[in-house]
Amino acid sequence: MWLRNKLGEFFQDTKYVQLSSRLTLWYTLMLLVIMAATGLFTLAGVNFVLYHQAGQEIEISAKHVRQQPDLNRIMNPQDEDGLFLLPGVVLRIFDDGGKLVYDSNPHYFGMSHLEENTLENAPVWADSDRFKVVQFRSMVIYRHDMPMTIDSREYNMVFFKIVTAEHDSLEGIKQILLLSDLAGLLVAMLVGFALVRKALQPVRELNETAKAIQVDDLSARIEVSPAGDELTELATTFNTMLDRLERGFKAQQKFVSDASHELRTPLTVIHGYADMLERWGSKEPEVLAEAVEAIKSQSEEMQALVENLLFIARTDQKRQILKMQPLNMQEILVDVAKKMKVAIGDKHELKLLRHDEAFVMADETTLKEMLRIFLENSAKYTPEGGQITIDGWLNYQENIYKLELADDGIGIAKADQEKIFQRFYRVDSSRTKAAGQPGGTGLGLSIAKWIADSHNISIEIDSDLGRGTIFILKIPLLQDRRDKNVFSKGGRMN
Ligand code: ADP
Repeated sequence: MWLRNKLGEFFQDTKYVQLSSRLTLWYTLMLLVIMAATGLFTLAGVNFVLYHQAGQEIEISAKHVRQQPDLNRIMNPQDEDGLFLLPGVVLRIFDDGGKLVYDSNPHYFGMSHLEENTLENAPVWADSDRFKVVQFRSMVIYRHDMPMTIDSREYNMVFFKIVTAEHDSLEGIKQILLLSDLAGLLVAMLVGFALVRKALQPVRELNETAKAIQVDDLSARIEVSPAGDELTELATTFNTMLDRLERGFKAQQKFVSDASHELRTPLTVIHGYADMLERWGSKEPEVLAEAVEAIKSQSEEMQALVENLLFIARTDQKRQILKMQPLNMQEILVDVAKKMKVAIGDKHELKLLRHDEAFVMADETTLKEMLRIFLENSAKYTPEGGQITIDGWLNYQENIYKLELADDGIGIAKADQEKIFQRFYRVDSSRTKAAGQPGGTGLGLSIAKWIADSHNISIEIDSDLGRGTIFILKIPLLQDRRDKNVFSKGGRMN
């Protein structure tokens, strides 16, 4: 219990120790346990072998004694008896009165001395059922008592055999083992610590790099070692994360500077007209009318821009909520066409061609907003008197609703077609502005693209400079045909 508490406290403390020291500590501890276990097993093994051997020699000698016909033959073995008592085995015979009647080696230790030093608790490796252990100075002796009846008289045959004469040498081995274990442990600890530190070097570098990173400079990267291990993976992941952060941060910075730039123009114009008003506006009615008109149109542009910016901010923060529901494309197209006709006036001719009935899953507000963006662009980039068409039909093979929004305006060069969906991208704005078209902000199509993506709608462009533009949208149909039928018959949902 005490040990458990102490160990608990110890490892609690190690929480605050460096990872490298902690790893070394764990590893040293493991090594210590392994070394201690090996040492103990070796010692036990050596002792077991020694005791076992001595026991065997006594048993063989005892067997020879039992085979003798009489006491005289035991005391005076004949040549044909061969090796009677094995070397080192001493036999003492006592009669039933406890009197010593035979001693195979009178120079051996005295009986009283042997009896005084007999151990009460024999070591674990001793066979204590059959043998007693006598231990004194550096000597360990096995003793085996064997009662025997010869000529109807009881005798006690006592055998002795030295197990280890040099008890000290075993002690010496023990000490050497202990010392070499300790030295090995120390070396292992030092080498281990150095190795762990080296292995954890990339982690320290990672830490240093992480510390060096500032919000306005995300260019720092850590060196990726070619080892291909977990740390290489960690470093690569870390660098990739920084790449992403840096890209995102740069895009954010560009967005802010582009947005400010866009806002500056209308603000400058408004400021200019306000100045003009202040000087001459009250006296000259034409100046007053022009200034008011300009301020109004500029502030409208600014409002549209701010609304677009807010929409983008919401999509970036994943806050734009889409209320997806089954919508009848026919109703959507009729409604959008009606409103666009009002907005365009008699500048262009807007025709609603096919408008098949079919259901799609979409958010009504943003879907209409997307169509409005395409159609307003068509109106913006088509000279007066042009034609704009909306053509929508069902395509069952592809399970889509195909929608073509076309104009015969200025068209888009192939090189620009991929870029027009980028934020703030405008094709040669001076060209369109000079042509008397209202200048856009370059945000419309990026918003339309976001809406299309979030509805799984694909957009293709068919356009050439001077030929006009067709935006082809493929809107996924509501998958279930049964649903489609239910909705087309009065919009009731079961
Ligand atoms: P803007 O506010 O400039 O219209 P958009 O993102 O809506 O921004 O469009 C990006 C650019 O794509 C426009 O500046 C314009 O040059 C080009 N564009 C978009 N639609 C058309 C079109 N129907 N015909 C010709 N050019 C177009």
